[in-house]
Amino acid sequence: MDMTPLEEWMAAKIGLPKGGVPDAATLHDYQLTMLGKTLALARKKSPFYQRRLKDVDPHALKSMADITRLPFTYPGDLATSALQMLCVSQGEIARVVTLQTSGTTATPKRIYFTLDDLELTADFFARGMKALVKPGQRVMVLMPGPNLGSVGERLSTGLGRIGCEAVVHGLVEDPGQVIEKINDLGIDCLIGLPVQVLSLARWSGKIVPGQIKSVLLSGDYVPRSIIGAINRAWNCPVFNHYGLTETGLGGGVECRALEGCHLREADLYLEIVDSRGRPVPDGCQGEIVLTTLTRKGMPLIRYRTGDVSRFLTERCACGSNLRRLDRVQGRSVYKLEQGELRLDEMDEAIFQLDEIMDYEVSIERQDNRYLMNIGFWSVPGAGINNGLDFAIREKLREIPCLKQPLEQGVLSLNDVYPSSKKLFSNPIKRKIKRVEDAQEH
Ligand SMILES: [Zn+2]
Repeated sequence: MDMTPLEEWMAAKIGLPKGGVPDAATLHDYQLTMLGKTLALARKKSPFYQRRLKDVDPHALKSMADITRLPFTYPGDLATSALQMLCVSQGEIARVVTLQTSGTTATPKRIYFTLDDLELTADFFARGMKALVKPGQRVMVLMPGPNLGSVGERLSTGLGRIGCEAVVHGLVEDPGQVIEKINDLGIDCLIGLPVQVLSLARWSGKIVPGQIKSVLLSGDYVPRSIIGAINRAWNCPVFNHYGLTETGLGGGVECRALEGCHLREADLYLEIVDSRGRPVPDGCQGEIVLTTLTRKGMPLIRYRTGDVSRFLTERCACGSNLRRLDRVQGRSVYKLEQGELRLDEMDEAIFQLDEIMDYEVSIERQDNRYLMNIGFWSVPGAGINNGLDFAIREKLREIPCLKQPLEQGVLSLNDVYPSSKKLFSNPIKRKIKRVEDAQEH
């Protein structure tokens, strides 16, 4: 099996001679040096970090494990103090990303990148994509572009360096039209959001058999049921990518073993912590905490991402020693007194139904009971007449987090209906909708 191309990338970043292998000790020493440089830069240039890190003695950091002595930064800091976190003048900023935080009234987060920061992303994309594509292949990017620094534009730049051509389409709105374009242009590889790529795999206008040779899913957590459906439709490997705006888009990507993302460890240092912020043993679930090691514009130091995952402890089947991150959990939960309803658990069950393209869940509270409504989009020709609503109800009863509340009568399945709204109204932020105070007389 081909080793992750990130080994070669890492060796070059660390400055090893060609063919050198970045062992754990070499990588550790490199990361510790880069962390020291990042702390020095932040304390010198950023008023925010001058305050936040004032009690930290940088000489006390003898190993990467000592990073736990540094205070965390939070998404709220990116909303209230982004400009104070800058380590360069605003004139040196090439891209600003504004992200709405959860809660409608919250101030948006802002993240700033210099041209050098953007270059690091293109370099990582170029190397990471070598796991999926060969020179001469054509890649369709079903993600936002083409502005400087967008994921579409950075992928396009990176892919060009490894002899591939990128077609930046943007998000899928009309699956039939995208399939036509894939066939016309002879696209070999697709990069997109899990649900959006699933819609292409399930749409009746078929892609020429053997056309798609690899798929990269990104931008959201990835249900196994979606990986399986794409696998079956196109008989090609489905890779997972982990990344956020805060990681500089790229964060980690699977090798051909398809068992967890090898991390972008020459640019980023990831920790996993428990709910009280303490490090968990390798292999245990917890929140991902991110430290940038090479970022110039706005370094992030022990940033709480809110994403939940774990490090995989076994050595990868590709032979690499580089750490791997398991698939991240979905974030959307609805809390009941008796437990929580998880959208990712529902996805695993509902997307097993071959006729489903997408669906939405809303929950209405009535005194001490909850009513669940499901609107669904099906492939052309399927629907209520074929008993799809009944099949969905059956599937929902098998889901662990729904079983008990349904049996106890705390939760009831109200309506399951074909949605009249547009497919993919907000594909990046799929979540359980709450219908508040539905009972008005
Ligand atoms: Zn591997």
